[in-house]
Amino acid sequence: MSEPVRTHCPYCALQCATTLHAVPGGGVEVSPRDFPTNRGGLCQKGWTAAEVLRAPDRLTHPWVRRDGALVPASWDEALGLVASRVRSLQAEHGRDCVGVLGGGGLTNEKAYTLGKWARLALGTRMIDYNGRFCMSAAAAAGNRAFGIDRGLPFPVADIDRAQAVLLLGSNVADTMPPFVQHLAGARRAGGLVVVDPRRSATAALCADGGGLHLQPVPGTDQVLLLGLLHVLVRSGRVDASYVGSRTTGFDAVARSVADLWPERLASLTGVPAPLVEQAAHLLADAAPVHGGGGAMVLSGRGVEQHVDGSDTVAAAINLALALGLPGRPASGYGCLTGQGNGQGGREHGQKSDQLPGYRSISDPGARAHVAAVWGVEESAVPGPGVPAVELLARCGSSVRALFVHGSNPVVSVPDASAVTRRLRSLDLLVVSDLVPSETALLADVVLPVPQWAEEEGTVTSLEGRVLRRRRALAPPPGVRDELEVLADLAARLGCPVRFETEPARVFDELARASAGGRADYSGLSHALLDDDEARFWPVADGVGTPRLFADRFAHEDGLARFHPVRPGDPAEDLRPDAPVHLVTGRVLAHYQSGAQTRRVPALAESAPGPFVEVHPRLAERLGLHDGEPAEVESARGVVVVPVRVTTAVRPDTLFMPFHWPGSANVLTTDATDPVCGMPELKVCAVQVRPLSPS
Ligand code: SF4
Repeated sequence: MSEPVRTHCPYCALQCATTLHAVPGGGVEVSPRDFPTNRGGLCQKGWTAAEVLRAPDRLTHPWVRRDGALVPASWDEALGLVASRVRSLQAEHGRDCVGVLGGGGLTNEKAYTLGKWARLALGTRMIDYNGRFCMSAAAAAGNRAFGIDRGLPFPVADIDRAQAVLLLGSNVADTMPPFVQHLAGARRAGGLVVVDPRRSATAALCADGGGLHLQPVPGTDQVLLLGLLHVLVRSGRVDASYVGSRTTGFDAVARSVADLWPERLASLTGVPAPLVEQAAHLLADAAPVHGGGGAMVLSGRGVEQHVDGSDTVAAAINLALALGLPGRPASGYGCLTGQGNGQGGREHGQKSDQLPGYRSISDPGARAHVAAVWGVEESAVPGPGVPAVELLARCGSSVRALFVHGSNPVVSVPDASAVTRRLRSLDLLVVSDLVPSETALLADVVLPVPQWAEEEGTVTSLEGRVLRRRRALAPPPGVRDELEVLADLAARLGCPVRFETEPARVFDELARASAGGRADYSGLSHALLDDDEARFWPVADGVGTPRLFADRFAHEDGLARFHPVRPGDPAEDLRPDAPVHLVTGRVLAHYQSGAQTRRVPALAESAPGPFVEVHPRLAERLGLHDGEPAEVESARGVVVVPVRVTTAVRPDTLFMPFHWPGSANVLTTDATDPVCGMPELKVCAVQVRPLSPS
């Protein structure tokens, strides 16, 4: 590479803009680039992203398991083995015995190809992706309310102008630090309201007049939101004109919160009634209907990863609609997508219930459209599969083989030890990855893939902006792009359908497949995006759509839907043998399962391993001491981690990050939201005690 290459960070959905420069002796280094989302900022993960390219254990050739050990293999040997095992397993057990778990970090082109490949080359219904654990609750609620799911239906920069921001279960100060600058306006106005059971780095921004931190009992976010709506209705602060002209279903929702006054809810949520009143009026004061400068309601995984996550997001959207926010200047509801391509990853057919363009796989018209683009009969497209948690639960029973792309479920999924056992019991586990992740180490076949700086493609940021990812250097010899590998495997499996391998041509096909769908990329192409003016989908005549809902919502009648919800309970109640809540989350240095960031020395040094945060009162009662090991046990397993004594957590709650094997997700429950399949990763019941002397 002779010229610097303009691209974006490989990690989170903020997709900070970067420039890659060649360094003497090979490789690249990263520098930040001015862009509306990051304005020249990068977090420590972004600054060090190029180091993963040079990880000493980078995979540079396929591996196959022989006599219990992974040994090097040629591509022909590895793919020949995969094809013959798939053929014989499907001959014995049927096509659905092979599953595919995709990833929210794959480019749009790879996500699209993986969905098409699973359905046509494997002929299986069993495909889903790890974004199920990330986005499904907000996606379900957004589709239900607005008829469309674009994480933020407005540019991130619109948040700057909001006078109040209600931030629900999101610790952006650690997960996407450059985002914090967009909260400065709300903080200056004293209007940042953070809902989090833990005083996270983000919640701390509310101190000194920045706003309010509401610290509910884990699992009671929805109750709290209903209480906020109760205050608005009771005090006549609803935007009646907006509700009457742009929405349906308000009356039933208003009735449903009539008896949920904050004093009554305080014993459930632990949030004092005056704070709830204050937060509700702070939001109302900022709403355009009351002459305010704008108010935003933003949700994150903390409120979404629950068995009632989709209804909790519905409660947040109800609040936003009642105040007349969606579609108004500096106002609205949005979901802060987490994974780098969490938005695009869910739009192009990796989900068990969807085809490209965010189309329902059960809709005959959608099936016919996509089948025509794929050049097959509609009957050749398999029907809906099962969400990721159920797919993993079937491993070793009805699912005999699994392909994993861009995911490390051994660390990142709930009840991780049980999932690990199931993965071990498969007849065939094929993992495509760039490093030997914990999941790759269990595989029968490991296929090395290129990294972000070594590939061409596109990703879609949390605001629906489609961005070009550009190749700055060649992958190591021996690495093959997934687009080529999937095409090769399709041919070996006897699939007559053509699979494009050139990213720009894959994108063109993806755009045709999405045309007319809920996520319509039909006006886009690599050539259009190459002018560096990233565009928000949908695009018409080369012009994108930064803001949705100004005049109408995406439902046929143009109206948004209120959705009545009644609070449920977490999957697990506290009980004598598990009397404390565990909430899980992230730290600044690491991304997702940590498979990449744990390989960056500076990040590993700054956050070397898991820990558990314990309130001083609980620590004193249980004899736990700062820095000493504790056993944390749930119904799924037990982990040993050092204690951090801190007032950041509630006395009834522990906090543990999940980026390491054998940490938080050994304890979490795989109970899921029946609407969307989101697992309850954020709260479970545990016991904590000092490590007993052995
Ligand atoms: Fe930006 Fe996210 Fe990358 Fe950090 S991890 S540099 S916040 S895109």
